Amino acid sequence: MSEEDTGRKWIVLKFGGTSVSTVESWQNILSVIRERRGDGYRVCVVHSALSGISDMLEEIIERAPRNNTGDLVEQVKQRHDKLGKALDLPVDELLKEDFDELEHIVRGIELIGEASYRVQARLLAMGELMATRLGAAYVRRELEEGTWIDSRECIRTSALKNVSERSLILSAVSATDFDRSVLDRLNEAGNLVVTQGFIGSDEEGKTVVLGRGGSDVSAAYYAAKIGAERLEIWTDVPGLFSANPQNVPSARLLNHLSYKEAQEIATNGAEVLHPRSIRPARQHNIPIHVRCTHRPELSGTVISDEASDDEALVKTIAVRKNVILISMESLGMWQQVGFLAEAFEVFKQYGLSIDLISTSESNVTVSLDPGLNSHFHDIRESFVEDLSVLCRVEVIESVSAVSLLGRRIRTILHQLGGAFEVFEEQKVYLVNQAANDLNFTFVVENEQADRLVRQLHDHIISQSGNQQSFGPTWPELMGDRETTGREQPLWWEERRGELLDIAAESGPCYVYDRETLKKYAGLIRGIGPVDYALYAMKANANPEVLRTFREQGLGFECVSIGEVRRVLDLFPDIDRKEILFTPNFAPRSEYEEALDLGINVTLDNIYPLQQWPELFRGEELFLRIDPGHGHGHHKHVKTGGMHSKFGIPRFEIEEVAGLAGELDLSIKGLHAHIGSGIKDPLSWKQTAIILHKVARQLGGVEILDLGGGFGIRENDTEAHLDIRELTQSLAQFREAHPEYTLWVEPGRFLVAVAGVLLTTVTQLKGKGKVKYVGVDTGMNSFIRPALYGARHTIVDLSRLDEPNSQSVNIVGPICESGDKLGIDRLFPQAAEGDVVLIANTGAYGQVMSSHYNLRPPAQEIVI
Ligand code: ASP
Ligand code: MG
Repeated sequence: MSEEDTGRKWIVLKFGGTSVSTVESWQNILSVIRERRGDGYRVCVVHSALSGISDMLEEIIERAPRNNTGDLVEQVKQRHDKLGKALDLPVDELLKEDFDELEHIVRGIELIGEASYRVQARLLAMGELMATRLGAAYVRRELEEGTWIDSRECIRTSALKNVSERSLILSAVSATDFDRSVLDRLNEAGNLVVTQGFIGSDEEGKTVVLGRGGSDVSAAYYAAKIGAERLEIWTDVPGLFSANPQNVPSARLLNHLSYKEAQEIATNGAEVLHPRSIRPARQHNIPIHVRCTHRPELSGTVISDEASDDEALVKTIAVRKNVILISMESLGMWQQVGFLAEAFEVFKQYGLSIDLISTSESNVTVSLDPGLNSHFHDIRESFVEDLSVLCRVEVIESVSAVSLLGRRIRTILHQLGGAFEVFEEQKVYLVNQAANDLNFTFVVENEQADRLVRQLHDHIISQSGNQQSFGPTWPELMGDRETTGREQPLWWEERRGELLDIAAESGPCYVYDRETLKKYAGLIRGIGPVDYALYAMKANANPEVLRTFREQGLGFECVSIGEVRRVLDLFPDIDRKEILFTPNFAPRSEYEEALDLGINVTLDNIYPLQQWPELFRGEELFLRIDPGHGHGHHKHVKTGGMHSKFGIPRFEIEEVAGLAGELDLSIKGLHAHIGSGIKDPLSWKQTAIILHKVARQLGGVEILDLGGGFGIRENDTEAHLDIRELTQSLAQFREAHPEYTLWVEPGRFLVAVAGVLLTTVTQLKGKGKVKYVGVDTGMNSFIRPALYGARHTIVDLSRLDEPNSQSVNIVGPICESGDKLGIDRLFPQAAEGDVVLIANTGAYGQVMSSHYNLRPPAQEIVI
């Protein structure tokens, strides 16, 4: 066959939504087309709707039945109008019919009060139709060639058996065999074709779409059907990476992947390439090039069959958030024939697709991919009910699947040993090793996932010497600024000028912003069902900070007699019952002094009652209870459970009650604090329920102190603790138990965000690929990164507006390898004397500092 016959002269170029939305990108598109034409190829351009348009159309579908689309239709039209005008095209003429059609469909939905799948497909297809009319006209004018083709003529989809009507119309698939008629259609159109991604037509000739993100798939279908020489996917990122560069700045570009590897990566959460786009290319051995429209000179990622080398290697650490686990527990069931068959039958009945499976003697746990099981929440109750006939069912949510993807992973498990140490601090819900040996997956809590990815990446990929598979990092390629996506500037961005002046005068220092302190106090006081809040002053004992909180009406929780004395020095008239003393393994003398002072005293051990009974006879006391489990961002901050030294275990409560009777004690309050950095809004209610149970055992308890641990938003990608939900859940508890007074005792939540640490660049160093920025204070001022692996936002305050063009380690001057403030951070080209700011350091900063190396720690300033 000649090249003409096989379509080898064709190259398929796919451009995504962001690539077709601006004039600048269109200029890049033109130069790519010119280049391919110059090389003698015929070019088939497949493109998406303008960015955001498919989302808007989906919103219209949702709102039109209620006649509630507002000006959405107008907005859609305006977006096209604007781009068309910017490209200097006769928009009215080009788009008149499409605009009419768009309005017509929307009116139809409004009239009937619903949108059938057919109508949905027709409306969604408008995005691609309108965009390609502009694209084709522009290309034709600039290059003097180019024919618009309606994809519904070429992409015929198949009526698969056993597939829902919805999928057949909104998530349709097409054959991937060579298709003479499509090749003929393209050849007949000329040397340059512009057509739509995402849309096709079914056997009745009616419009269908290929599912969200489906333009990649369309392009792959075209490539397969015409037997193209190459498929190029042009997008807004420069290829596939060894991890998501937003989470891991040192993630490396993947130069080359086999089809199998790419399939595994696309399926496991990399959003760059649609998972269904790989198989058609693989079937015909058509290489896929993933490239960046804004940076056409970069080579991107090549996916092909060329076996580069067969070395066993982890290539990517991928993460899928919000996975749902179904745990099925049953004693002695697994020996029985057919248990799994019956259980899986239930999944099938409910149309749930299973992803990962892990089994043991008495438990089978499977995961559902939320992408494929979006209806789970609608059917959850009856599904669980049906499955519960067979076994005990638990649904576990808010977990993420973190996967190591690569080649022959089983053969290199021994090399990964060191990396697995990171699991010491993680609760792992499920481990799964894929049968194809390309994938090793761990399911952990959502909140832990990003950190786990960074740690695994650091151990496994950053330390790999392989230069062939791994290319440059994102900052090396793009010299980009960290995207913040934040609506409001932070206080320290607004007060930047002042901070730079302070740093110039004062040397290393902590600066606290009084307004922010007040704001956070207000958030806590705003929790309606809570009667009283105490500030856990161990987080920051600065007198000005204490004064501010006193003015805000907070009491004080003190863990040492030293803290108690500071409060009494500052506020001699304070009502002693506004102080709660909560020591741990303190000497007898501290209890004596506290009781003399008349403050609330908490016991967190039965020992003082057994050994020093006379000290406590007839007193009113609080007890700190260990609720039996801990929570938090690191094992060192979990303060509940057997392995924590805090609290009285519940099995000792009977004994305590006996002693209390003998000593005529009144147990006025119960207290529990399970840990720090908690984002689960229901955690405090759960604590309340446990304390209530203990209170019932003891009798006479009035106050439940639910502890602190209110998590803050550590960086831009994290969610806030949902205070509203927390408030609601506590309100429920209150309603059920109006007999108690509820206390909380936040520390870090109140002060962390209000504080920053300012330090100055001393020296720079580069050891090969690893760059160091040295600053004039380190772990002597701020030990959280070394102690907990805490990751604080760090910026070069002198160069806030400059691009973050490199990845660096920010280190202090202390003679300890652990003296690192930040590892693998995006940073501008810093210079000696720059002021570096470490954010969210108001809590556990100065209070934990030391004079190690005889270097005085940072001083404190309140502004
Ligand atoms: N426009 C469609 C979507 O946003 C298809 C695509 O862009 O790939 O899902
Ligand atoms: Mg895409």
